[in-house]
Amino acid sequence: EICEPLAVLGGDVEVPLASGEKVGYAALDYAASAPALKRVWDDVAAYAPYYGSVHRGAGYLSQLSTDLFEQSRRTVADFLDLREGDQVVFTRATTDSLNLLAGAVPAGTEVFAFETEHHASLLPWRREGLTVSYLRAPRSHDEAVAALEEALLGASEGPKLFCVTGASNVTGELWPVKRLTEVAHRHGARVVLDAAQLAPHHRVSVRELDVDWVAFSGHKLYAPFGAGVLAGRSDWLDAAEPYLAGGGASRTVARELDGSVAVEWHTGPARHEAGSPNVIGAYAIASACRALDEAGFEELEARERALVAKLTEGLAAVPEVRVLNLFGEGSDRVGVVSFVVRGWNSSHFSAALSAEYGIGVRDGLFCAHPLVRTLLGGEEAAPSECGAPESSLPGERSLNAIRVSFGAGTPVEHVDRFLTAV
Ligand code: PMP
Repeated sequence: EICEPLAVLGGDVEVPLASGEKVGYAALDYAASAPALKRVWDDVAAYAPYYGSVHRGAGYLSQLSTDLFEQSRRTVADFLDLREGDQVVFTRATTDSLNLLAGAVPAGTEVFAFETEHHASLLPWRREGLTVSYLRAPRSHDEAVAALEEALLGASEGPKLFCVTGASNVTGELWPVKRLTEVAHRHGARVVLDAAQLAPHHRVSVRELDVDWVAFSGHKLYAPFGAGVLAGRSDWLDAAEPYLAGGGASRTVARELDGSVAVEWHTGPARHEAGSPNVIGAYAIASACRALDEAGFEELEARERALVAKLTEGLAAVPEVRVLNLFGEGSDRVGVVSFVVRGWNSSHFSAALSAEYGIGVRDGLFCAHPLVRTLLGGEEAAPSECGAPESSLPGERSLNAIRVSFGAGTPVEHVDRFLTAV
């Protein structure tokens, strides 16, 4: 029943198999990009004839588009349960959001992150004026909390920021965000939550989790590519240099007598949204937020838990399969599971799932190289891009892993077919 309002595009696409047969495509790579909801597509299509220039357009459609853009911001604020005074900045995606925040962090800030983070939350802090401490991979929630506490006890009095993921893009495991935030705040550190993998699966309440900022991507939340969100406290954002310098971010620009140009920047989201914004992207995200809220996260989570249980039990029954867990078997996770298969090169395995079964998964190090190396038991992974390392013959040891991931709209048949294939 809940599948219906959350039906996704592409559910009826047929793909050719190596045998020459055709089969319905089983999209099991939601953690990279989820298919868009049909409803999001319909909402965007309904709005498309009416879109016009935003902000200072005087015409009717310009005003309509400006209203819809600002309404989309309010929808996202409600979806995230923001506090009074928090703001929503529309960005291109999570990577963009975290880089924006990194540029707004006051000089001299000490940043803390576990080395297990996705590169998008691991790397933006490596910039002049900031110092970064990477904490070793914890093997339990308690270890993570203790490691953060210890690191912060040794930190300076100055500004501090802790960046943490809500759910791992590799193992799908949930992180103890609330506990970590409590520790961080007790030591005067602010917290940014990378919710790229959490927000599509669980309700993210900024108020309840008490994080200072949250970032997510539209294309993982059942909206199309091109738009994302950074939301949270306004003070650092309003005090920072604009992320992009240009029109829309500037309130006034005046030529001075000495020939220089003086700029007064806006505060609020406009400060970091220079240039013509991605109104359709923002509208699509808002539409996805509404659809998820209406379907209800409780039901979504219950359905997903059942699918995760089916998947992990099915994989556990195959002796050659090793599922990768940071926090131990049975840890709570969203619909994201990575594994290796003894005697198989993960790239070849994934290619076979596609060619022989019409199943789309992903193999590689998933832009989380330190984490995947830890999970593979210290085996030296081949240096690579986010995608597959150089291929090797079946039978050689795993240098990378296979990731299967799903969410709203995933039919049970896809999980069944995947298990049969494995
Ligand atoms: N953080 C996590 C946990 C992710 O899974 C991803 C995407 N794989 C990102 C950040 C980056 O998101 P994007 O590519 O949309 O910028």
